Amino acid sequence: MIAAIDRYENNTKNYRDYCSKDVELISICINPSLWKGANNFVSETDPMFISLFFGIGLDGDSDGVADRSNPNDKLFTLLSVLTSNGSDEKSVKNRLIEYYETEKGVEIIYSIASMFEYFEDIDLSKRVFPIAKYYAADYQNGFGLGRSYGGRRSHEGIDIFAHYGTPVLSTSYGIVEKMGWNNLGGYRIGIRDYFNTYQYYAHLQGYKEGLKEGDFVRPGDTIGYVGSTGYGKEGTSGRFAPHLHYGFYKYDGSNEWSFNPYNFIRKWEKVRAQ
Ligand SMILES: [Zn+2]
Repeated sequence: MIAAIDRYENNTKNYRDYCSKDVELISICINPSLWKGANNFVSETDPMFISLFFGIGLDGDSDGVADRSNPNDKLFTLLSVLTSNGSDEKSVKNRLIEYYETEKGVEIIYSIASMFEYFEDIDLSKRVFPIAKYYAADYQNGFGLGRSYGGRRSHEGIDIFAHYGTPVLSTSYGIVEKMGWNNLGGYRIGIRDYFNTYQYYAHLQGYKEGLKEGDFVRPGDTIGYVGSTGYGKEGTSGRFAPHLHYGFYKYDGSNEWSFNPYNFIRKWEKVRAQ
């Protein structure tokens, strides 16, 4: 669990202005005003003043100082915050939601924890190209171009043109978060990886048999097949050339937004899985 929290903190720290951008042993980063207490202008590190002003900062390694940047102190502080209403699963989850002020974020933390457990590894950073080796796959950087179906919008992904039925591979370790039809994407799959990134695969002809929401996938696992579904009611197909639409959405701790996967895809293409 702590490893998952640390991963989540690492995924979101660039979006919090009070966090160090350096690589650290422990990525957990606590808001300074929460740490010392909102009205505490006396001391940011003296445990007595911190508790006097209802700050949460604690001295984890008994050196007399509650240092926000000390790994022991911040880990000890976070653990005591999360268990302050009890250390059973439900109390901890409720405290997590209160602390991070986001249910979605906490769901992601639990997903990350379940991935660590399932894959028995905390390095799940491996990525592969979404189309299997030896299959044709052509794409350009079409991110942000205009699209008109379903109202004016901008293209939130990259189109990889391939033949009908070409196997589509998971690009990462992750959990299948969404499957099924939507009018824009046709048969689509959304997979969440441990970087808080939601990978969106759309216009599929069909899914890998047996695949369902909640399943764990590895980079290179077949998840579906290239098609041309979408732009209409369920089952609509053939309104455009077959291709895989591949999108990237990042959850930063409060919002989810689309970003361009083009440079990633180009990098992954150099080592394609079979
Ligand atoms: Zn597209």
